[in-house]
Amino acid sequence: MYSSPREFIENVKIKNPEQFEFHQAVTEVVESIWPLYQKDLRYQEANILERIIEPERMITFRITWTNDKGQVKVNRGYRIQMNSAIGPYKGGIRFHPTVNLSILKFLAFEQVFKNSLTTLPMGGGKGGSDFDPKGKSEAEIMRFCQNFMIELQRHIGSNTDVPAGDIGVGGREIGYMYGMYKKIRNEFTGALTGKALNWGGSLIRPEATGYGCTYFAEEMLKTRNDTLKGKIVAISGSGNVAQHTVEKVNQLGGKVVTLSDSDGTIYDKNGIDPDKLAFVFDLKNHKRGRIKEYAKKFNGAEYFAGKRPWGIKCQVALPCATQNEISCEDAETLVKNGCFCVTEGANMPTEPKGVEVFLKNKILYAPGKAANAGGVATSGFEMSQNSLRLSWTREEVDQRLYCIMKSIHATCVKYGRDGDFINYVNGANIGGFVKVADAMVDQGAI
Ligand code: NDP
Repeated sequence: MYSSPREFIENVKIKNPEQFEFHQAVTEVVESIWPLYQKDLRYQEANILERIIEPERMITFRITWTNDKGQVKVNRGYRIQMNSAIGPYKGGIRFHPTVNLSILKFLAFEQVFKNSLTTLPMGGGKGGSDFDPKGKSEAEIMRFCQNFMIELQRHIGSNTDVPAGDIGVGGREIGYMYGMYKKIRNEFTGALTGKALNWGGSLIRPEATGYGCTYFAEEMLKTRNDTLKGKIVAISGSGNVAQHTVEKVNQLGGKVVTLSDSDGTIYDKNGIDPDKLAFVFDLKNHKRGRIKEYAKKFNGAEYFAGKRPWGIKCQVALPCATQNEISCEDAETLVKNGCFCVTEGANMPTEPKGVEVFLKNKILYAPGKAANAGGVATSGFEMSQNSLRLSWTREEVDQRLYCIMKSIHATCVKYGRDGDFINYVNGANIGGFVKVADAMVDQGAI
């Protein structure tokens, strides 16, 4: 038995060397659940803590593909099947040059708690490749996706493991992967989510993570008798999550003033209104261009090369790009500039020292595993619709999404209330843990 979270985490570091993002994700959860774990003998007897951090299965594989010049290329593919205590593994696929075992293990680990918080029967997993889609032709993307699926198809299925999109994997890539899955397996089942509407996708799935994150921010503000209406909002990223977050914030009356990509940030003091957002949708999803084009197109907008949005004055910050994109200094700047609500659309975008700054200043701060769970929840709805062979209306899916975000918020409040303050980190970690840990106890030592 470990005497402290620190001792436990030291052991995790020894067993999983160099996996810094994974250590970070485990540390946050273990620190939150430690008091509960100490009190509950059932968990200790079942050794839940050591079991929950160990993936049930990790698959790595070679992806060989040919580029347009006829050159043979090799990438590494992964699927981490982290935990299936409450349902089939579920989690996205990421294509990005930074993808490695540490990043995917952290994402798979977070996914276990996130999926549990949704109340839907989904275990946790994550996968991807170090393939960089940037600068690749349409034909190269298709060939890569097909070759990725030639191996992955052996390990997934609608009752086993149901991947979805993530960074670098959107509707186009899901389409190419599903095509190959169907061809090899000779079955039309809900083995992937994020599918297009005319072949098994769900309405609102593309919007879900961004909409859900915004609903969550609105719930957080409500606890202080406030709303998004009239708030100045800084958003990072300009991909799927960022775009739909801007859309929903606009609908709720907030004013979004920033977007970014890995090259830099745009600042539009006049606000990214629906017409300007339509330009971003086209730029990013069809032309696959860079966000700096925005500043060339719209008067009054500025572009800051190599910068993140956190130096811009805002009241609400919604990080929607990637992990560790808010440093301790960024967090201090945000708070100093009057930001009092940070709701994470991305996974683990705030470094641990940044989280400390938010908690110390008692601002509203919600981690991604709670605030961005709307994406996977709607993937869960897609799975349900596929099983029923029915499609729900836009209103029905949106309403269900809204209810789930409210319920996740209520869970965070239940487990995270600390006097007048709501510690959403503890709330999300404990709320997500209990359901999975109880299921693991019920199912015996497996
Ligand atoms: P996209 O690929 O659609 O967009 C990612 C955005 O983040 C792009 O603007 C990208 O810029 C930027 N970005 C990526 N890496 C970096 C980096 N290292 N530094 C700065 N900017 C970066 O991905 P999504 O919108 O789907 O995902 C965004 C985040 O949300 C991720 O953390 C993901 O895990 C999380 N998430 C996504 C869900 C979903 O449903 N899609 C569900 C839950 C969480 P560039 O084009 O320059 O790479």
